[in-house]
Amino acid sequence: MPALVFDPATRDRIGASPRRAAFYCGAVESLRKSLEERGAKLVVRRGPLAVTARALARDVGAETVAFSSGYDAESTKRQRALQARLEEAGLRALAVHDAPAVAPEETAAARSADGGVGYRALVPYLSAWQESVPEPVTSRPRFVSADVSSDLPPVATEFGAVAVEEPPSEARALEALERYLAGPALLYRLERNVPGGERTSHLAADLSFGTIAARTVVAETAKRERDPFLLAEERLSLKTFRLAVAHRDFFFQLAWFFETREDAPLQQRMRGFPFVTKHASLKAWREGRTGYPLVDAGMRELRATGWMHPRVRAIAASFLCFDLGVHWRVGRDTFEGLLIEDDPALANGNWQWIAGVGADLAQFPRIYNPQKQARSYDPRGAYVRAWLPELAALPDADVLDPSAGSRRPQLALPLYDEGARYPQPVVDHGTAARAFLQRYADFTAGAKSERH
Ligand SMILES: Cc1cc2nc3c(=O)[nH]c(=O)nc-3n(C[C@H](O)[C@H](O)[C@H](O)COP(=O)(O)OP(=O)(O)OC[C@H]3O[C@@H](n4cnc5c(N)ncnc54)[C@H](O)[C@@H]3O)c2cc1C
Repeated sequence: MPALVFDPATRDRIGASPRRAAFYCGAVESLRKSLEERGAKLVVRRGPLAVTARALARDVGAETVAFSSGYDAESTKRQRALQARLEEAGLRALAVHDAPAVAPEETAAARSADGGVGYRALVPYLSAWQESVPEPVTSRPRFVSADVSSDLPPVATEFGAVAVEEPPSEARALEALERYLAGPALLYRLERNVPGGERTSHLAADLSFGTIAARTVVAETAKRERDPFLLAEERLSLKTFRLAVAHRDFFFQLAWFFETREDAPLQQRMRGFPFVTKHASLKAWREGRTGYPLVDAGMRELRATGWMHPRVRAIAASFLCFDLGVHWRVGRDTFEGLLIEDDPALANGNWQWIAGVGADLAQFPRIYNPQKQARSYDPRGAYVRAWLPELAALPDADVLDPSAGSRRPQLALPLYDEGARYPQPVVDHGTAARAFLQRYADFTAGAKSERH
């Protein structure tokens, strides 16, 4: 019997962003309808997870309660409480790894021979992952419909959000995947870093809320890779895309096996690093007004759509952590309030990776130069122009470096027109990056001498 327990913790996370709330409620409605078409009823119960699930199981006389596992610290805590509550009542609790394509235990099995558990490094994980992909499941579960009461499913208006016009659904997500695999995915390896357009799949929210399964994305991509008419580069691109999904699984297993408090970085030695939580330019970063066009375009894309291009996420995050020295948690929380997808384990993993405090074992933080990145990946300023109308009319070179353009008299006017004003850079990137590296070197030297 399919059931949704809509508990206060889920409610808070969903409600953090109105776009997310609208997407989630749309996805629940699609699920309800598709179950109905198969003769089953989605039972909704609102209330605290453990007691509500146990009460529902009792109402229907269930012996086993299976649930889709979460991976972040908070979900793990709630699941333990759920499991304990169910087992106390004599019920079997079955946590199912539904979010990843490959369950953490599958890849960990490859390590058990050397006494290891999960993987902290991505590259060996990816090899183990490729060996562990399960065969696609073809059977469909059959459901019973019990005659029990159901609360109302959550709706967008409860969260002050407007229902999405074309609600997310399995059919729409599958169509989007099919379109993506037919064309853009064949260029993924070279184009995934170029922001704008459909160069990446935009499947993050569907994967997050389960309108498409990661297993399906992997299986369909692998099927496409077997097309004998593909060029070698196209096949390589598809493989790179498939491994992007493995990257997602990597962070799930990382959270699963290396459980830390939600806010503690994975690297012990970096726990006391003095990131700041307040900065005079934090508001400018959040609003996309730092004076660095690629960072600003990314933040405005996020505010306008609930999604930001992956490469630009890394550049905007690096700017926050290194150029401004602001704590990665502040960035994560800002993103969390704006993104549609809701994956705390992925958000934590990626933010810690960028800030150099997580799974990445790089010797030094990798600081992105936003102007160099713009020259490499948005050389004609197409992405920047799309999100920063103040710069749209400028020549290419000035879109990438507006402060240089503003120093020339013929360009001074459009930049400094009231209402169309683009700010000067809030910090000088070179100076800020050098200062950060010095603080980093001092901190790690201090940490080393404490150990000796
Ligand atoms: C600072 C920062 C924060 C991020 N926060 C999140 C987050 O909260 N939730 C989230 O799903 N992703 C997050 N990512 C990862 C990545 O940016 C997004 O998954 C990606 O932007 C989604 O766009 P897409 O679906 O077009 O990706 P594609 O390039 O088409 O990739 C396909 C899928 O692979 C998965 N994937 C690809 N790269 C990663 C990655 N690095 N980590 C995890 N999964 C990946 C995603 O599920 C993605 O939908 C973050 C990255 C950075 C640098």
